[in-house]
Amino acid sequence: MSPKKDIHDKLSELAGNLWWSWQPDVTAIFREIDPIRWSELSHNPILLLREYPPERLEERAREEMLHSRINAAYRDWQDYMSSSNTWGDIHAGVLGFRPVAYFSAEFGLHESFRIYSGGLGVLAGDHLKSASDLGIPLVAVGLFYNEGYFKQVVKEDGWQSEEYIHANPADLPMNEVSNPDGSELRIQLETRTGVIHAKVWQMDVGRIPLYLLDTNIDENIDENNEEDRKLTSRLYGGDQRMRIRQELLLGIGGVRALNAVGILPRVVHMNEGHSAFAGLEIIRSRMVNDGLSFHDAHRETQASGVFTTHTPVPAGHDRFDGELVEEHLGPIRDSLGLEYNDLLALGRVDPQNHSESFCMTVLAFKTARRANGVSNLHGIVSRRMWQSLWPWRSEEEVPVGHITNGVHVSTWLAQPMRVFYDRVLPENWSRRSGDPIVFSKFDEVRPTELWETHQSLKSRLILFARHRLLVQAKRNGLSDEQIQATQSTLDPQHLLIGFARRFAPYKRADLVLRDLELFEQLVCDDDRPVQFIFAGKAHPADEQGKQIMQRIFKMTQESRFRGRVVFLEDYDMKLGRRLVQGVDVWLNNPRRPYEASGTSGQKVVLNGGLNLSVLDGWWAEAYDGQNGFAIGDGQIHANQEVQDQRDADSLMETLRKEVIPLYYTRNDDDLPLEWINKMKRAVRTLGWRFNADRMVMDYVKSAYLPASGSESCDMRIIP
Ligand SMILES: *Cc1c(COP(=O)(O)O)cnc(C)c1O
Repeated sequence: MSPKKDIHDKLSELAGNLWWSWQPDVTAIFREIDPIRWSELSHNPILLLREYPPERLEERAREEMLHSRINAAYRDWQDYMSSSNTWGDIHAGVLGFRPVAYFSAEFGLHESFRIYSGGLGVLAGDHLKSASDLGIPLVAVGLFYNEGYFKQVVKEDGWQSEEYIHANPADLPMNEVSNPDGSELRIQLETRTGVIHAKVWQMDVGRIPLYLLDTNIDENIDENNEEDRKLTSRLYGGDQRMRIRQELLLGIGGVRALNAVGILPRVVHMNEGHSAFAGLEIIRSRMVNDGLSFHDAHRETQASGVFTTHTPVPAGHDRFDGELVEEHLGPIRDSLGLEYNDLLALGRVDPQNHSESFCMTVLAFKTARRANGVSNLHGIVSRRMWQSLWPWRSEEEVPVGHITNGVHVSTWLAQPMRVFYDRVLPENWSRRSGDPIVFSKFDEVRPTELWETHQSLKSRLILFARHRLLVQAKRNGLSDEQIQATQSTLDPQHLLIGFARRFAPYKRADLVLRDLELFEQLVCDDDRPVQFIFAGKAHPADEQGKQIMQRIFKMTQESRFRGRVVFLEDYDMKLGRRLVQGVDVWLNNPRRPYEASGTSGQKVVLNGGLNLSVLDGWWAEAYDGQNGFAIGDGQIHANQEVQDQRDADSLMETLRKEVIPLYYTRNDDDLPLEWINKMKRAVRTLGWRFNADRMVMDYVKSAYLPASGSESCDMRIIP
C-alpha cells in the first residue's frame, strides 16, 4: 500500500494538472492559503506551494479550515480523471486507441503560462479544456516558448515597450518526456545546414496531454548552437527564417514526438497553417512504414487531415521563398522522392507558377481533405478567398465549411454568475452546456438578482482597474494628486463599455474616437455619462498598431477624460477575465469581414454583458435584433475610408439612440428592466451556441469522425 497522502501531496498533484484552473473550488483553496502571494505569483500554485512546505501548509489549512475542501477537491479530480460514460465515450469512442492530434503554434491555457498571444491561442486552450471535459480522445502539440509572448509596459508617452520574462520549466506544471530506458527524449530535424535538436515536455490539461517541443537544450551538451537554442524562445518573434524553423519543429518535430511516445494519430487537426508541415512527415512515415507511393500516402494523409483556417487578413498567412523551403525541407523532400518544384507546388495555388511563394495555408489545404473557417461568414469569405485552389468548382462548391468558435464556459464564467446559474439552470447544466434546453429557463430569472450579480462583478472590475491604474501611475512617476485620483476612477452606477483586443489595424480600436468632440459629448454628459476601459497589445513589429494604441493612451490622459476613460496595460487572460465579467457593454468594431470569428464577446454573453458589434465574425450569425446591439447593416464598401466613416457614424448613432437610453431608463427601483431583458435574451439565445463544448462536439461529428474513416459525413455544415 502506498503511504497515505497528506494535503500537501494532494495539492501538489492538483497543481500538476491544469484542471484546477477551471475549477473555482480548487482555485479558491489556493487563493485562501495566501491571497496576497496568490495574486503576486500570477495565480501559479506550484510557486505558492513552494513557499508553503508541509508543516506551514498544515498550519494554514487548519486556520482556514481547508482540510475537508482539499480532500473533496482531490476526490473530484480523481473522479474526473477516471470517469467513463462521457459524451466522448459514447460518440467518439472509435477514436480510442488512435486519437486526434491537435496542432497549434499557441495555447492560451492560463495567465501563468504565456505561450499565447491572443484569440487563436485562447481558442486552442479552450478547445483542449472542452475536449477534456467531454472525454474526447485527443492529444495536443505545441512549442514551449520560454520567454513566451511579451509583457506590455506602457510608459507615460503611451508608447508600448515589451518585456520578456524567462519562464523556468520547474515553475510550471510540465515534465520532461523520457525514452522507455529513462533517458531524455530527443527529436532531430535535419536541414540542409545542420540538425536541430529538441526536447519534449508534457503538460496535462485535464485528461488531455499537451506535448511541447523545446530547443533550449543544456549548452554543455554539444547539440544545438546558440541560434537553435533560442529558436523556441519567443512566440511570433524573429524573422522569416526563424518562423520557418519554428514551424518545421512544430509540424515535423511534433509528429516525430508523438510517434516517439507511441502515439500514431488517426486524425491530424491543424489549428491554423503554422503546423502544416505535419502532413509531409505523415506522408513520409506512411511511405516508409507502409511501403506506399508518394501519391497513395498523400491521398491517405489528406483523408485523415482536418484544417481550420482562422483569418482572411493576407498577412496572417505565412509565405516563404523557395530557398528557405529548400534549406529546411530539402532532406524530407529527398525522402519523399520529390523534385524541388514538386515540393514547392504543394504550397502554391498554381503548381506551375514558379514565381509564387510557398504558402503554409495552401499546404494545409492540400494535405487536409476537411477544412473549415470559424464562423458562417468566415466560411463564405474563405470559399471566395481560396476558390482559386479549386478552379473547376463554383464558389459554393469550394470544400471549405465552417464551425463557429466557442468559449470554454468554466474558464470564462465568473464565480458569482456560476452560483446564479447553479440556482436557475437545470442540475448538471455545466456538463450539458452545449444543449439549448439547458439555457431555456434563463428568461424566467428575477431581474433584481441578475442585475445585482452583474453589479457586484462590475464593482469588482472597477476596483481591479483602480488598483492597476495606481500601480501604473506610481511606476510612471505621476504626481501625488494623479495617483490619488486613480482611486475614484470609474463609477459603478454609470454605463461602462469595454474594448480589449490586439491592436491589429483592422480591429480599428480608435473608431469610437474618430470624432473626438462627439466622443467627449458622450463621455462627459452630465445625466447619462459613458465610461470606457481600453486594453490591448500591438505586435512588437506593428508600428501602425502601436500608434493607434498611443493615440488612445494619450487621450485617456487628457483632463476632460480622466477618471472616465482608462487604458489598462498588459491585456492577458487574467485582465481579459475581469473585463468580460464586469463590463455592461463589449465593443467590437472590426472592418468587416476581417474578424473571422472573435471570441471575447462570447465570454461577455455568459457573464450578462451585452455586445455592441459590427455584424462580422460570430456576431453576424448571433445577433437576432434583440440580444445585443449592431453597428452598421453588414454592408461592405469598396472604399475603406468610406466604410470606416459609415461604421463610425453608425456606432455613434447606436450608442446615442439605443445603448445609452436603454441603460439609463430605470423603473422605480432603479432597475433598467428593458436592458435586463436583453441580458437574459443574450444568455438564453447565445450561451449554448457559442461555447467550446458545442464547438468540440461539432468538430467530432463533422470533422474528426469522418476523417477517421469511421463514419461518412459531410464537412459542410452550413445552415
Ligand atoms: C478571448 C481573448 C482574445 C480573443 O478575443 P477576440 O474577440 O478574438 O479579440 C484575445 N486575448 C485574450 C487575452 C483573450 O482572453
